[in-house]
Order: sequence, then C-alpha cells, then structure tokens
Amino acid sequence: MSKKSRVSMPVSASRPAEQGASADLCPCGRAASYADCCGRYHAGPLHLLAPDPESLMRSRYSAFVKDVRAYLLATWHPSERPAEIEPPEDGLRWLGLEVKRAAVLGESRGEVEFVARCKVGGRAHRLHEISEFVREGDRWFYLKARG
Ligand SMILES: [Zn+2]
Repeated sequence: MSKKSRVSMPVSASRPAEQGASADLCPCGRAASYADCCGRYHAGPLHLLAPDPESLMRSRYSAFVKDVRAYLLATWHPSERPAEIEPPEDGLRWLGLEVKRAAVLGESRGEVEFVARCKVGGRAHRLHEISEFVREGDRWFYLKARG
C-alpha cells in the first residue's frame, strides 16, 4: 500500500547537522543532538559512562552550559574534587568549545587540550587548558588541569 519508498531523500552534506544550528544541537560542538551526545551521560542508562577522555571532557563542558553541577562533581575524581561548585555567575554565557587534542595514555590515563569561550556581562573570556583524566573500572574521571 505504501508508496513512500519512492520519496527521494535530500542528499546529506558531509556535515549534516552543523548548518542552521538547531536548538537541540549539543553544546559541546559535535554534530549531534544533546540527547544523542552529552545528554546520554548526564542522565539515563549511560549516566557517568562517557567512553573516553574527550567525550567526558565534552560532556563536562555541556554540563557547565546546562548547569548540571551534580554531573560535574560526579565526574571529578574524588582526590581533587571540590566540596561544591559555585552557581554560575549572573549573565554567564558559554559560546563554544574547541578540542585541540585528545590522547589516551595507556590503560587508565588521558589528557585533552581544549579552548572554551564564554562571555560574562559583555566581556569575552577564553579558557585554554590541558585537562588530565584517569579511568577507574569503566568510568573516566576528570582529575585536574595540568601545569
Ligand atoms: Zn556533546
């Protein structure tokens, strides 16, 4: 009955989800919806299970954007974790994340170099950091900024 199989699909460009910046694109910059990207690690069956340092770093950036402080604490290694995370400054707006380098160093260590940009009260800020990550069991944790 259905004749729908003949409907031609638009040919997708090489970077399908990046144009038009639809509202549900993941804040971390990957070409996927929040639900299919960092949102998976913020809640649900894959909660806290980002599979590699870069994915964890991106999901932590998205957690800053969405102010999911419980996730930031839960993915911070207990040896370095602060007791709490301050609420975001008034008027803080995250502008984007650029991952410059991500490396897994052996079984249980990794590092990610990134630049994150934000704006507070009209002033732009740029955070350039090399983050260190450690794995324990099936979970990666943010350890600290290097250097
Ligand atoms: Zn993401």
